[in-house]
Amino acid sequence: MFTTFLSELDQSTPRYTSYPPATYFNKDITSQHYIDWIQEIEGDLSLYVHIPFCQALCWFCGCHTKVPGNYEAATDYLTSLYKEIEIVADLVPATCCITHLHFGGGTPTFLKSSDLEMLFKNLFQNFQMTKEVTIDMEIDPRTVKEDLVCLIGELGVNRVSLGVQDFDPKVQEAIGRIQPFELVEDTLYRLRQKGIVHVNLDMMYGLPLQTEKSIEENVKKVLKLAPDRCAFFGYGHVPWMKPHQKKLEIYQLPDSLERYKQFSRAKYLFNASGYESIGIDHFALPGDSLLLAAKSKRMKRNFQGYTSDQANAVIGLGASAVTQVPKGYLQNNSVTKAYKEALNVQKTLPIGRGFAFSNEDKIRGEIISHLMCFFEADLSDICGTPRLAQEYMKGAYQTLHLYEREGLVTIKDLKITICEEARYLTRLIAKSFDDFSPHTKRIDKDIKIKRAKG
Ligand code: SF4
Repeated sequence: MFTTFLSELDQSTPRYTSYPPATYFNKDITSQHYIDWIQEIEGDLSLYVHIPFCQALCWFCGCHTKVPGNYEAATDYLTSLYKEIEIVADLVPATCCITHLHFGGGTPTFLKSSDLEMLFKNLFQNFQMTKEVTIDMEIDPRTVKEDLVCLIGELGVNRVSLGVQDFDPKVQEAIGRIQPFELVEDTLYRLRQKGIVHVNLDMMYGLPLQTEKSIEENVKKVLKLAPDRCAFFGYGHVPWMKPHQKKLEIYQLPDSLERYKQFSRAKYLFNASGYESIGIDHFALPGDSLLLAAKSKRMKRNFQGYTSDQANAVIGLGASAVTQVPKGYLQNNSVTKAYKEALNVQKTLPIGRGFAFSNEDKIRGEIISHLMCFFEADLSDICGTPRLAQEYMKGAYQTLHLYEREGLVTIKDLKITICEEARYLTRLIAKSFDDFSPHTKRIDKDIKIKRAKG
């Protein structure tokens, strides 16, 4: 039975970095929604800035990025990004402060140091940042030159996330990302020399040619580098969305059972070496801010994954970036050309699609988020009343009951707890509350009917 669940998990189970998953966003959401919704936000905010360029495409990549023919594409993109920053900053209520600034991509370090400096200047001039603003940046060790390392330190970046995925040269060749261990070691050394001590390494399992043994070697190398945090993601093969991933199909991809074994091996080794598990795929040393947030039940999940950030809203800037406010999601155009045209020709915000929350969506999102972050969800607490909690439980009970019978979860007084041994299946268990998954019974039947017609 467990193997059936494993293959179900790998077939079409969302990662739940949003609820609903972005595949259910729709084009009814426009720039007017953005203007209306953003003016209602209050308190602390988080900013996400997307740089959609890379020097070369990795065959496993699932991000919104491209390899431009020349650097002018980036200069051109930045001109539009500065326009967006100005418009959005004008709309944000004056009482809101930025507590968290995250640079992702693509590759933020694709930018020349002068451009990265200008981007920082622009953001700090337009938005009100708190003194203790946390600044995270994703870094590709293959592209971060000495001048950028110095600049990143000077700009006050607190945490860097290094993309690695695998250290084995054979796997690196298969996935189109050649990056020797020494290069990562040297990059880390230089960053630490500049005072950037909070480091995350992004690793992956489920890639071609990976085995339990090779994963073990990878973890040993990670331990040698001693980052304070490591994300160990499962590779998601979605060639219908990312056609370049077809290049990996000349190899046999590890099956669901093999993926489970690879992750379990990594988890065992991390835990045995003093790294504690966070959520479904992170490990960290004691004292790490995300680990502390997880332990005190303050951790959240958003489009960047797990976060200790407590902001009330995330504003996404750049092509494909997602803004999350209490009323819903708004995603910028993913196609860079359309993103630029909206800002420069149509003189409007570059919203491509989004989603307006109903109350029920918010409750379902909260239940799923609790399960993904803490492996438990107390429905009475989340729903507000026992009667409503009963309704949500009833809707999910068909699958939950099966998981309970198989010993994957316990259910007591409307509280669901995922058992330690079943945590690898958390996404599948959380899916019981996903109204966009076919089996779930919606509470608000009117909304279900409207959606079915739409
Ligand atoms: S460097 Fe990162 S964003 Fe760019 S293609 Fe590789 S995995 Fe994707």
